[in-house]
Amino acid sequence: MVHLAAIPHEDEVDDKLVKEVKKIHLQLANDEDCFTTSVYGSRFAAQDLPRHEMPEHEMPKEVAYRMIKDELSLDNNPMLNLASFVTTYMEEEAEKLMAESFSKNFIDYEEYPQSADIQNRCVSMIGRLFHAPVGAEDGGGAVGTSCVGSSEAIMLAVLAMKKRWKKQRIAEGKPADRPNIIMNSAVQVCWEKAARYFEVEEKYVYCTQDRYVIDPEEAVSLVDENTIGICAILGTTYTGEYEDVKAINDLLVEKGLDTPIHVDAASGGFVTPFVIPDLEWDFRLERVVSINVSGHKYGLVYPGVGWVVWRGADFLPQELVFNINYLGADQASFTLNFSKGASQVIGQYYQLIRLGKHGYRAIMSNLTRTANYLSDSLEALGFIIMSKTAGEGLPLVAFRLPPVESDGETEERHYDEFGLAHQLRSRGWVVPAYTMAPNTENLKMLRVVVREDFTRNRCDSLIADIKLSQQVLDKMDKDSIQKHSDFIHRHHTASGKASHNHAKYKKEKHSLQGKTGKTHAIC
Ligand SMILES: *Cc1c(COP(=O)(O)O)cnc(C)c1O
Repeated sequence: MVHLAAIPHEDEVDDKLVKEVKKIHLQLANDEDCFTTSVYGSRFAAQDLPRHEMPEHEMPKEVAYRMIKDELSLDNNPMLNLASFVTTYMEEEAEKLMAESFSKNFIDYEEYPQSADIQNRCVSMIGRLFHAPVGAEDGGGAVGTSCVGSSEAIMLAVLAMKKRWKKQRIAEGKPADRPNIIMNSAVQVCWEKAARYFEVEEKYVYCTQDRYVIDPEEAVSLVDENTIGICAILGTTYTGEYEDVKAINDLLVEKGLDTPIHVDAASGGFVTPFVIPDLEWDFRLERVVSINVSGHKYGLVYPGVGWVVWRGADFLPQELVFNINYLGADQASFTLNFSKGASQVIGQYYQLIRLGKHGYRAIMSNLTRTANYLSDSLEALGFIIMSKTAGEGLPLVAFRLPPVESDGETEERHYDEFGLAHQLRSRGWVVPAYTMAPNTENLKMLRVVVREDFTRNRCDSLIADIKLSQQVLDKMDKDSIQKHSDFIHRHHTASGKASHNHAKYKKEKHSLQGKTGKTHAIC
């Protein structure tokens, strides 16, 4: 709820940190600003930044820049953020190209036809990477579009599946008011959103203590006449394991069911084609009708781009597509928003042609090696590894502490995964702890995402810090660990401060998190 902000009341806006700051009488310079000194000699450096009311007057651009930049230095260092899949490194040339395109509105095909064409080239390259059927006549080939991220892509895909199901039901003279969708309870929150926003009933296949992916048999057994589709995840956000899309596909075929499969390849879509090209999860499988992928994860672009591809125009009902007139020719568009920057699409094109398949393969291979190395090292340190290695899952390591053996004599361990995560914060590492999907007995885990900029050398620093943190925690008693943990949670993590969480929305009970205590993995 961080981004849904409340507008505070007058009583709340005067939030002096220390109420009774003593007036100190010094003879301080009080000259009018002439801005010949540095930013820090100006009066702005001696005032708080405007927070609630827009200021009456201007401030010099150098001051605004420096003050905001300085404030942002309290954000975490993205390089040390091992929680997220989202790209934190791009080459300077890519950054330059993207900055040069900031002022282009992507939706404006008429003014920026090249940007539109560049998106089409990306769609084609990505579609082919996923073995999409290519351009037969009659609009028979695959179609796709750029989005803001996989979430928008998934919203569009769910809308398309729902519309297609509904049309078919109506054509058959059957009721079309109770659509449902089948998915793993470990889905990313955007699936819950899509189901809720578009009024589709969620049918979950629950994880168990030792299965963190969808059970294909169970998924297919949940199919009924109201099922609009099955979601399969290529790389779940908790353990990175690839769900068995082929098994779901084959079961559907075997039972003669034509239920569509949508593959959520948000993070795996740019990994598997290079690391395990023989894994069949994409349009090679006949029931797979649509696939999404995040350009800003292993597509290696800064946040703000995703892609969705449909097997053919048949799977994207015409009612959902709007035409925008472009130089006298209609340009079809399917998006949830209208205006957006063109930079991210351009950044994606840069990466695709700059790196080529060989470049992506080189990067993804290194990430797989680093993840394997980290996984082996943590196992040697006594952790239980929950993720797959050797390229059978995303390049991430999900792990937990071994169970404590208590025979009444031996010392118990006083800390859990959250305690260790908090301790690592003091070195700057952001390694998140989670409570897994429902029905897993509140299994807790830690997760490190291996991104392009996480080299073997940095991996070694992390391992050393994990060892050190455990030693520190082992020496602390239960009480001090709790106090220490609370302190770090409150002061080093933004969620601990959570002053931006609106009272009305704080304790919602409708989501899997609200209902079961599942915490969503960051992605
Ligand atoms: C990241 C992720 C999403 C959401 O994607 P965004 O690009 O962040 O909108 C959805 N599903 C999975 C499996 C993800 O990893």
